[in-house]
Amino acid sequence: MEKQYPVYTLKNECNDCYKCIRGCHIKAIRIQGGSASVINDKCIACGHCVTICPAGAKKVRNDIDVVKALFLTGKKVYVSLAPSWAGVYNISKEKMIAALKKLGFAGVSETALGAQEVSIQTAKQLNQAEKGLFISSACPVIDDYIRLYKPEFAKCITPIASPALTHCGLLKDMLGDDIKVVFIGPCIAKKNEADENPDLMSAALTFDELNYWIKEEFIDIEAIEPDETCKFIPEDSYEGALYPIEGGMNETIKRVGIDKDDVTFIGVSSLES
Ligand code: SF4
Ligand code: SF4
Repeated sequence: MEKQYPVYTLKNECNDCYKCIRGCHIKAIRIQGGSASVINDKCIACGHCVTICPAGAKKVRNDIDVVKALFLTGKKVYVSLAPSWAGVYNISKEKMIAALKKLGFAGVSETALGAQEVSIQTAKQLNQAEKGLFISSACPVIDDYIRLYKPEFAKCITPIASPALTHCGLLKDMLGDDIKVVFIGPCIAKKNEADENPDLMSAALTFDELNYWIKEEFIDIEAIEPDETCKFIPEDSYEGALYPIEGGMNETIKRVGIDKDDVTFIGVSSLES
């Protein structure tokens, strides 16, 4: 069966208001068979149409069953947890880890560890590079936007894997190539990253999917009692946790250390910037 793209239209729910067509910044939606359909090879999975559709007809692919199928393989499945979890869930990290383990995950690690590694690699490249423009983003939406719609800047993207993919690689180096890693975070576009890099990232779930799954399993995350094993592996992150904050990536690169005094950092947020 053909794999569903991360963002799609539930045609029966669409009321043909065309708000999504007007709202998609890159015109990746067209009328097809009478309803507003996403053009898969143009869409960068920013999720804007899902947010603005008044009928709830624009949907995000649900990958919970993909993760449950990974559990059935008997392989250990670890979570790469995006740093923004702390702003979404008002619970301790121990409770968060306990809830994820109760779902069936073998352990939880912070994606921020991958972000820290990306900052180290980026600082190294900047220190060695000739003068020029360098673009780095933790967000696959931005990378895809530049590659598809601003190809003249594609050569400026630093050739370093994203924090999430870097983190998946670090976990496999540490725990063995046989483990599976599932990213959990706010980002729909990580599903594209998982689809394109299945050897590193087996699936990506959004916080909405996680909430649904926790509810489905009747897990009370506030009441859950963590045990002594409920710790991030291999350790807590430090600067990498700044990544979700605007300019956070630049800040971590500066903290790693830039030898030159003529480097200017600019933080850009959103497709409208
Ligand atoms: S915004 Fe929603 S209801 Fe309106 S055309 Fe798009 S998918 Fe259909
Ligand atoms: S997810 Fe973003 S890029 Fe894709 S169709 Fe919706 S608004 Fe356009």
